[in-house]
Order: sequence, then C-alpha cells, then structure tokens
Amino acid sequence: MATRRSLLKAAALLPLAPAIASAQAASGKVVVVGGGFGGATVARTIKALQPATDVTLVEPNATYTSCPFSNSVLAGLHDMAQQQFGYDGVQRAGVKIAATQAASVDVDARSVALADGTRLPYDRLVLSPGIEFVWGAIEGYDEAAAQKMPHAWKAGPQTILLRDQLRAMEDGGLVVMSAPANPFRCPPGPYERASLIAYWLKIWKPKSKLLLLDAKDAFSKQRLFQNGWAELYPGMIEWVPLSQGGKVTSVDPATLTFVTEFGRHKAAVANVIPPQRAGAIARQAGVADRTGWCPVEPVAFESTLRPNVHVIGDSAIMGGMPKSAFAANAQAKVCAAALVDLLAGRQPQQPILINTCYSLVAADYGISIAGVYRPDNGRLVEIPGAGGVSPLEAVGGLRGQEALYASSWYRTITAETFG
Ligand SMILES: Cc1cc2nc3c(=O)[nH]c(=O)nc-3n(C[C@H](O)[C@H](O)[C@H](O)COP(=O)(O)OP(=O)(O)OC[C@H]3O[C@@H](n4cnc5c(N)ncnc54)[C@H](O)[C@@H]3O)c2cc1C
Repeated sequence: MATRRSLLKAAALLPLAPAIASAQAASGKVVVVGGGFGGATVARTIKALQPATDVTLVEPNATYTSCPFSNSVLAGLHDMAQQQFGYDGVQRAGVKIAATQAASVDVDARSVALADGTRLPYDRLVLSPGIEFVWGAIEGYDEAAAQKMPHAWKAGPQTILLRDQLRAMEDGGLVVMSAPANPFRCPPGPYERASLIAYWLKIWKPKSKLLLLDAKDAFSKQRLFQNGWAELYPGMIEWVPLSQGGKVTSVDPATLTFVTEFGRHKAAVANVIPPQRAGAIARQAGVADRTGWCPVEPVAFESTLRPNVHVIGDSAIMGGMPKSAFAANAQAKVCAAALVDLLAGRQPQQPILINTCYSLVAADYGISIAGVYRPDNGRLVEIPGAGGVSPLEAVGGLRGQEALYASSWYRTITAETFG
C-alpha cells in the first residue's frame, strides 16, 4: 500500500516536471544533422518533450525521399509522390531548419560549420546522416557507373532510373542484382526488391528472370522469402550465395557485366547495391571507427570517440539492432528523452527499444521480423524470445494482413517523423 501511495504521489508530481525542466534547460542548444527518419524524429521529439530547447535541423534537401516502400515504386505499386515528405511539420513543431549541408564539426569548440559559412554552436550535437557508398569497393563501380547500373539504395532519381530501365527491358531480359556483405542499410531490402521486381516481371515480362548475386551465405527472413519465391515465382529468382560465387569483385558498366570469383554475368538491367559506411560528416567529426561506422554507448547514443556528439540511425553501431527506418525512429525518441535529461542535469533512463521490419514478397503478401533490445555491458543486445518472425506456415490470410500492417506502419512512421 505504501508503495502504491508513493507511486501515486510521484505520478501526481509528473505534470510539474516539464516546468522545472523548462527553467533548467532553457539555454540548451541542440543541433541535429540529417533530416531523415532519425534526425527529423529526434528534432521533433525534443521540442515535444522540452519546448524551451533551441533545436536546429541541418538538412540540404527541401524534400525527403523515403527508401521504405521505394521497392514498391519499382513494382508500380507506389508513386514517387508517396515517397516524398517536406519539412513544414518539423518547422511547425518549433524546430529551426538550416537548409544547407553541414560541412564540418569542431568537436572542441562545439560548433558545426555549414556549407554557407554559418557556424552553429551546440551543447549537444546529434548526427543522423545515414549512409554513404564506398565507391570503388567493387572495382569499376563509381558514381558514373551508377548512372548505368543504378544502386537505388538512396531513393530518388536512382529509383526512377531503375524503374524505367525495367520498363524499357525486353521480355526475356535478365535482371541481375548484387547485395553486399553485412552490415548495410535495410538487411531484408535486397530480397524484398528481388521479390517485387519478380512480381512485376511476372505480370509484364513473364519470360524474364532475376539473378541475385550475394556477398553472404545467409540473409534476413531467408526461409520466408525463399518459400514465397517458390510459391509465387517458381524458376524466376536465382539466389547465388557467397560460397557459390555470389561475391561481385568488379563490374563493367559499358556492358552491364558483373564479375565474381566464379564467372561473369551479363545483365539486361543491372542493380548494384554497393558496400556502405556512415555518412561523410560522421567520419569528418571523428565519430566513425575503422569499420566506417560509429560506436555509441547504448543509453543516450553518445559517441564513444567524441564527447557531446550523439549518433543515431544507419550511421551508428547499435549492437543487435538492424539499420532500418523503424530503428532510426526508435533510437531518435530514446535519444531525445536522454538529451532533455542531460541538458537538465539528470541521468537518462535505461531504454528498451523495438524494431520491426516488414517486407513485401508481393503486393498482398507481407512478412516481418521483430526484435526488442536493451543496454547490456555497453551495447544494445536483443532480449531472447521477445521478438520473432512471421510463421513459415501462414493460415487465415496472414500474409495479406501483414501486407496491410506494412502499409499502415509506413503511414504511421512517416507521419511521426515529418508531422
Ligand atoms: C530499398 C530500401 C527499402 C527500405 N525499406 C525499409 C522498410 O521497409 N522499413 C524500414 O524500417 N527501413 C527500411 N529501409 C531503411 C531506411 O531507409 C533507413 O534505415 C533509414 O532511412 C535510416 O534513417 P537515417 O536517419 O539514419 O538516414 P536517412 O533517412 O538516410 O537520412 C539521412 C539524412 O541526412 C542528410 N545528410 C547527410 N549528410 C548530411 C550533411 N553533411 N549535412 C546535412 N544533412 C546531411 C541526408 O540528406 C538525409 O536526408 C529501406 C532502405 C532501402 C534502401
């Protein structure tokens, strides 16, 4: 009873807490670099939790183009307009927008230099710059080659290029994709893409096939994908794992040829998903390690290499959490709450985070994988038995239901991120 009474007392005090924090943190300045799923969410959430904090979001693009559901654009299931979001909602939340590139970070002076010459001082900096491609890691694959063999792994003009190449291909043409080794943005993404391209080929170019060259021997939701391929696209998708010559060592964009340790494959349409690392600004700021990604502690996601710099989303090493929009959004909310605490001189609370990755194998055929994570010994670890994947045997229209869940997840996460 005593416990219950003290709990009620604590709860009764809760409405006062923001006012107290407000006075303490009025001078807090937070700069956020990158207006994607991580950055836009952290900026909006800080303002929601603590309106007195001065929050500036640095993002050069007036419109964000979402990678989630960009595979549906390739399959003609989504328009590009459904992928695009502006920053009015972020501004309405009270966040200042600096519509330019962050050029460099001076960690000692605690300031960010913008491409237009302005300097933004900060108490805390959040970096959520996503990924950059390691051009040249596959010999012959550089920015010019991506105009012939699109990656479409940053959504936008590259998505349109790949979609239009598929549309222009003759029926019977071979589509060749390559997927990188771990870690990379969106572990199930290449396999969803193979599925949705096959979905589209089956309708429009039924004599065509898809070859997926992979630099690894296992992938996310593998049995679910492969069962779906056998059921929906028999004989259409061939997956070549690392141990059977899947790793692409070089490409020739002039002839759309992929070279592996075991042979050569000439494509009618070529999609190269290259190796990746943290966005360039993270490396410039000195928060990326030799892996190319950014180590962080698991409570406020502060860099373990530089003080007062927090890294979230794809750029960060988040232990067991995959690089997904769901994860970036979850990390952003935890980071926002932790920053409000830190700026008010309080200890941040130990978080619990969730991730769910939905994938479409066809328009009405969805599968998912979920995980729950908590800090343990300096890293985020998955709580055994708390997550799971879709069952291998689906009954009662489950796959159709999961496709609907995927769509409503997309509507929710984009509304939460961009307002
Ligand atoms: C084909 C595909 C399908 C996917 N599907 C899903 C899905 O179904 N579910 C899911 O959860 N995830 C999915 N993802 C993954 C998801 O897109 C990423 O995990 C997510 O975008 C990561 O968010 P982020 O904030 O780290 O980076 P981003 O969303 O990439 O945002 C980074 C932002 O930083 C900006 N930026 C970079 N450098 C600077 C700088 N120097 N100054 C200022 N701004 C800068 C960029 O302009 C960009 O707007 C998919 C990805 C792909 C490629």
